[in-house]
Amino acid sequence: MYSYRKALIEGGKTLLHSGLTVETWGNLSLRDPESGLIYLTPSGMDYEICTEEDIVVLFPDGSISSGTRTPSVEKDLHIAVYRTRPEINAIIHTHPIYSTIFSCIGEQIPLFLDEAAQSLSAPVKVCPYALPGSKELAKACTNALSHGENACLLKSHGAVCIGRTQKEAFKAAKVLEMTAEIYWRIRAIGKMPDSLDPKDVAAMRHFALYNYGQQK
Ligand SMILES: [Zn+2]
Repeated sequence: MYSYRKALIEGGKTLLHSGLTVETWGNLSLRDPESGLIYLTPSGMDYEICTEEDIVVLFPDGSISSGTRTPSVEKDLHIAVYRTRPEINAIIHTHPIYSTIFSCIGEQIPLFLDEAAQSLSAPVKVCPYALPGSKELAKACTNALSHGENACLLKSHGAVCIGRTQKEAFKAAKVLEMTAEIYWRIRAIGKMPDSLDPKDVAAMRHFALYNYGQQK
């Protein structure tokens, strides 16, 4: 039987070894679409030693359903994103190097790669600066994800990536960082990439949502 707690513990270890964050920065959550309960990683704990008992379970209004640990400082951000995007059930917040370069200079990352069109679905916006853990940051983040986007950048901070499943959210996080690195390298040789045609983006996004992979 699927365990949200177990999936989050494994997700924490994957995050730690993904190169998408350092130390205990970054956090992740999953939502059970049946009950609406949100499973969130605890604040500041090493993902190598986290156990299923350390996971904090929240009601949709943010109050604690179970768990004795202090939830991630970005609890309000996770709650607000789930409220804004009822179809998604996984959120990953990371501090990746190349994506954060563009978050620091406040420049959005355009859609110029097929993988980004499929996984991120839209240019990646940068939210205005707000303190980590603040209600303002939660609001800015939901604004940047309110039109079907699967990723956004938090100014001078990091990235938030979402998906229907944890696998999709991780894919978005990896594709975002790959896109940011390629964008940085293109800019480093003094060039700009050509953005994809919105019609092609829509076709690839539809394919990614409904047709990609082995059909049953
Ligand atoms: Zn952070």
